[in-house]
This record gives sequence, structure tokens and C-alpha cells, in this order.
Amino acid sequence: MRTFCSKCFAESDPGACTCGRCGADLAQSAAEFEDKLLGALHHPIPDHQMTAVRVLGERQSTRAISEFAALLGGDVDYYLAREILLALRRIASPESERVLVEATRHRSRLVRMFAKKLASTRRPE
Ligand SMILES: [Zn+2]
Repeated sequence: MRTFCSKCFAESDPGACTCGRCGADLAQSAAEFEDKLLGALHHPIPDHQMTAVRVLGERQSTRAISEFAALLGGDVDYYLAREILLALRRIASPESERVLVEATRHRSRLVRMFAKKLASTRRPE
């Protein structure tokens, strides 16, 4: 996983504890970045929500799974739901699998269809 310093945005070496450029604590910085992403899931601007969903999926954030489940259970539009399902599949934990299976019974037919399609195709490596 590529890591970026949330203070100066420099890319850091995998496994490094502090940022090579500004010296920020990267573990703390990563947690703060994740908090920001989780907060952005409730952003009023859909583009921000979409980006947060995508990045949380790329980071395989297990903390995002319950938020994703809540969003899917609420008044979610198809495009956001689709991005959430793709992110859940990337996270690939028993919990995210469970939410994906639940989505195959989603009240929106389009979301159900997309969840079923994902379930029937191989996970990308
Ligand atoms: Zn830095």
C-alpha cells in the first residue's frame, strides 16, 4: 500500500514510521487521514463521497465497512452504491463479504443486479 503524509502529502517508504520530508508520525497521520475519509462519507457533495469511498476501498479500511453498510441501508443513489460495493470487494474481509451478500437483496433492483454480478465474477488481484 502506498502511504502519503497527511501533513505535507509526500509519499513515504512502506514501513517507515515518520515522514522523510517533514518528520510527521505516519501511523498517527494515517489514522487521521482515515478519520477524514470516514467523515467525507457524509459529505453533501457526491463527488467527495465517491472519492472517499474509493480511497477507503483502496486502503482496505475495515473501519469503513459499517459506514458502508449504513449508507447502503439509507437513501443511497445507484452510482454511490456501486462504488461502495466495489470498495467492499476490495476490502475482502468476512464482514465486507457479509455486507455484499446483503446487497444482493437490496431494495433497489439495479443495486441488487450489480451486487450479484460482483458475486459471480472473480475478485481482482
Ligand atoms: Zn510529511
